[in-house]
Amino acid sequence: MLDDLLAVWFPKCCWGCKAALPKKQQWLCVRCQAQLPKTYFECEENNQLNALLRQYLPLESAYAPFYFKQKTPIQDLLHALKYQGKPNIGVWMAQQCFARLPKKHPMFFCDAVVPVPLHPKRERKRGYNQVERFGQYWAKQLGVPYLKQVLLREEQTKTLVHMTRKERWEEVKNAFSIHHTKEYNHLLLVDDVITTGATLTACGNALLQGVTQKISILGMAYAQNILP
Ligand SMILES: [Zn+2]
Repeated sequence: MLDDLLAVWFPKCCWGCKAALPKKQQWLCVRCQAQLPKTYFECEENNQLNALLRQYLPLESAYAPFYFKQKTPIQDLLHALKYQGKPNIGVWMAQQCFARLPKKHPMFFCDAVVPVPLHPKRERKRGYNQVERFGQYWAKQLGVPYLKQVLLREEQTKTLVHMTRKERWEEVKNAFSIHHTKEYNHLLLVDDVITTGATLTACGNALLQGVTQKISILGMAYAQNILP
């Protein structure tokens, strides 16, 4: 009832084109959703993302459902998730991955989910880690624990947004440490946008030091070739 009234006073708008959203659509209208640049990595084991990350890590599998492209609805959506107080976009992103991946994909056999952590100061400022609901959704679907305290961000790294490829690797190399726990067989490491793989490599290498035997990586989007 209250929701219906609120919908009349403040109709929900598409985060892409700003048109009013029909009740059953979440976040994006049908047109903007259709424009999301899909990777189709679920159809191809030797996809670019696996190839990129396997250069740096012994990896079971990696997946992201969308390419990150500027000036498209995926940028609007991820911006809202990160900077406009909309953590539930993470749930929607997780549902997109879940619906696309075949159920025999290695990702369905992970025994715990670990988020790429923010430094506690940054997380307090934002109010949430933008990958938390994304990771928690997967943990719940798989019936495995969501491990928030296993991987810790040591230093407050500067924002990576304006850095070159080389600068990113240097910045994150020693940024993570692990808080020892029982050993897992296969961890699922979750992130928002995968760019160079620098952050994930630093996290993955830390986790492979005694926390897990194997690792898979799940991102919301993959940004190819956007850095100098
Ligand atoms: Zn739209």
